[in-house]
Amino acid sequence: MGIHMGEFDLIDHFFNRPRPSNPAVELGIGDDCALLRPEPGMQLAVSSDMLVEGRHFLSTVDPARLGHKALAVNLSDLAACGASPMAFTLALALPKVDPDWLAGFSRGLFLLADAHQIELVGGDTTCGPLNLCITVLGQVPTGQALTRAGARPGDDIYVSGEPGWARLALEAFRGRITLDAALWERARQHMETPAPRVALGLALRGLATSCIDVSDGLLGDLGHILHASGVGAEIEADGLLGQFPQTLRSAQGDDLLRMCNWAGGDDYELVFTAAASAHKAVEHAALASRTPVRRIGQITPGHGIHLIDATGHAQVNPYASFDHFQT
Ligand code: ADP
Ligand code: MG
Repeated sequence: MGIHMGEFDLIDHFFNRPRPSNPAVELGIGDDCALLRPEPGMQLAVSSDMLVEGRHFLSTVDPARLGHKALAVNLSDLAACGASPMAFTLALALPKVDPDWLAGFSRGLFLLADAHQIELVGGDTTCGPLNLCITVLGQVPTGQALTRAGARPGDDIYVSGEPGWARLALEAFRGRITLDAALWERARQHMETPAPRVALGLALRGLATSCIDVSDGLLGDLGHILHASGVGAEIEADGLLGQFPQTLRSAQGDDLLRMCNWAGGDDYELVFTAAASAHKAVEHAALASRTPVRRIGQITPGHGIHLIDATGHAQVNPYASFDHFQT
């Protein structure tokens, strides 16, 4: 294909491919609107996330990983609501038509889309500074969506996976720390190809009292649950250090690793609360969705977050979360 590919050739070549169809999609790419039909008794769940070059990623990032991540961060929002993904749209501004870049990007994008059996049903394509905006559409039984608002005093607080590795990768990427090849690769996978926790979100329907996905920092995002629910939290300060290899803890020190756990964003893990009596059911949901889940603390009647150290001493949360207009 030539460099002078037009807008419609570009859409046809890279984005309008026969996909394993999702039953909710009645009409996909090519008309003025896509048509979807959620199942009876289901609500539509909708979320958008934008990725801007220089802000969320660098021009040097592997396009396939970027394609994965652009969709993953959106699927993570559906996961946090307990919604089942159906379809997505892609609004794309490109500085130029670079067939190699587009081939890599669409490969990464569709690999993840196929893994979740969802279809690209439309979008918009224009020339401009590199910018990607995906909107995902999902469905959830009416009234069963997980929200930020239902946490109650006494509920346990849980997080999925290993939050902190993505921030560790960022620290290494910025040259503030050095990691050996194996640790760098592990950390970088968390940063560049996060796994959206869709299966866990579905398993938590009717079980979690609140849920959010971690994009801007674990405690900052937990703070949104606390605010919406009108409650506080006690968190075990060292509760997530055990996931890091001892060699890494000796080399970097626990202070940095604690900061990665609690303030690090970009992990796209789920933070959620559930009644203490639901502990066994949460374990079962984790097993059924093949997602590691760990209890990190408890909801309190007060407000704000207190970190409890190994000696039982409580400290007001010292970690600020990421804010695009503050940094
Ligand atoms: P309109 O002029 O009605 O906005 P366009 O001419 O921009 O439609 O797009 C033609 C078709 O291609 C539409 O169905 C639109 O949803 C789809 N489309 C455009 N850009 C993309 C894209 N980046 N990914 C997927 N579908 C796209
Ligand atoms: Mg258009």
